[in-house]
Amino acid sequence: MEKYDVIIVGSGPAGLGAAFHLLKKNSNLKIMMLEREKVSTGGLRNDCKMNFTFPIGFPLENWTREQAEHYLEMVIHELKPDIFKKKNLSTYFKRAENLGVELLDIKQTHLGTDGGLRLIKQLIAELQECGVDIKLETEMTGIDAAGKSIITDKGEFRYEKLLIAPGRKGFRFLQSVMDSLEVQYIDHIVDIGVRIETKLENYPIVTDYYDPKFLFPDKVRTFCTNSGAAHVVREKYGTASGKPYFSVNGHAFSGDRAPNGLVNFAMLKTVTFTQPLASGQEFAENLGLQAMLMGGGKPIMQRVGDFRLGKRSKAESFNDDLYNFEPTQPNCTPGDISLSMPAKILRGIWKSMKALDTIIPGVLHPGTIMYYPEIKLYANKPEYLDGNFKAYDNIYFAGDGAGTSRGITAAWASGIRAAEGILG
Ligand SMILES: Cc1cc2nc3c(=O)[nH]c(=O)nc-3n(C[C@H](O)[C@H](O)[C@H](O)COP(=O)(O)OP(=O)(O)OC[C@H]3O[C@@H](n4cnc5c(N)ncnc54)[C@H](O)[C@@H]3O)c2cc1C
Repeated sequence: MEKYDVIIVGSGPAGLGAAFHLLKKNSNLKIMMLEREKVSTGGLRNDCKMNFTFPIGFPLENWTREQAEHYLEMVIHELKPDIFKKKNLSTYFKRAENLGVELLDIKQTHLGTDGGLRLIKQLIAELQECGVDIKLETEMTGIDAAGKSIITDKGEFRYEKLLIAPGRKGFRFLQSVMDSLEVQYIDHIVDIGVRIETKLENYPIVTDYYDPKFLFPDKVRTFCTNSGAAHVVREKYGTASGKPYFSVNGHAFSGDRAPNGLVNFAMLKTVTFTQPLASGQEFAENLGLQAMLMGGGKPIMQRVGDFRLGKRSKAESFNDDLYNFEPTQPNCTPGDISLSMPAKILRGIWKSMKALDTIIPGVLHPGTIMYYPEIKLYANKPEYLDGNFKAYDNIYFAGDGAGTSRGITAAWASGIRAAEGILG
């Protein structure tokens, strides 16, 4: 059985951050990186918007500002981002402040879905040049911790140190690993919300601030804003019993593509369970299934004009003169979001939308579309043995699936932090 100094599972930013840091510190290490897909699947592959300011992407239970800023310096050094300039924001800051809303000033850049793919290819090629054994389309399925080996669909491999960074889609896989190792964890936090799509003229702030981050009371925030050649997409997930449901998301291509005059962004509410300590994953899955029931197996979309009048949207709502643009994600069912979304979440999001419409008048144009559900599962919270995300003897976790990040740059930073632990 082939043996490696370090095996890294997952080629997302957490795995990549770890690999580059390990090589920088010791270029003689024999490293293998495993990826179950042809190309890594997370945010590097989709949209690739990068935020370089705390607290964006950093779960506060794992990161202090000082720690995040220290590692972000290293991420910036590695990725050399072209940080976008922001302008004309003073009015928005003032209006937000008057309403008790915070507009964060975040350093950010955007490569686009096409630019992200180019970056992944470049990074993987660099690792290969440095001798990293990259095994694509190879899935880790189990572990023999006593024998220090992992089981994959292409055979078994031995490790000295193991980093598992399987991302959000590997959330359940990581839970199975933790169950087999008897690592304790909770997953009691989840983000639920809608994706808003509107005309650029209704949300002009994006021409001055690419992805404006508004924090509203009630734990609601704007998230992942896309403009230029921007589209709403569907992502397929499965429940523990194998039932499928969709979550919507958004992305944009790089500046090379012709703009379509539309903007999309998520309005998310964070829900935390305490008494009883419920699983965020199960809660979200139930909401996903409920939405599929109401949408005939598809996400629901509703025009703001219909929502305001308490009416469901119908196919006609998507052709009326006020309803003046075609949805970029037509594979959704016109319907009534309020039949699917828990009241507390809906109230929090609608109140925040009204505040946003006061800060940027126009975003609640009758034609604006709300797509539901948008679900963010990232909240496995393992009990770590140290500050480098060690979960078990010689085994480390990092990235979104392991609750150490919620975005590309923080995932990369968490990979570096785990690599430091691996290097001892
Ligand atoms: C559609 C989409 C768009 C996003 N857009 C952005 C964005 O623009 N900006 C931003 O900051 N964040 C974005 N995010 C979030 C971002 O993707 C994550 O924060 C980040 O990628 C997490 O990095 P990671 O390395 O933990 O996981 P990932 O990037 O998800 O990488 C994990 C990798 O592990 C692989 N894997 C999983 N299980 C196994 C296994 N058993 N064996 C082998 N390989 C496995 C997966 O295929 C995947 O490639 C987006 C997420 C999604 C889903």
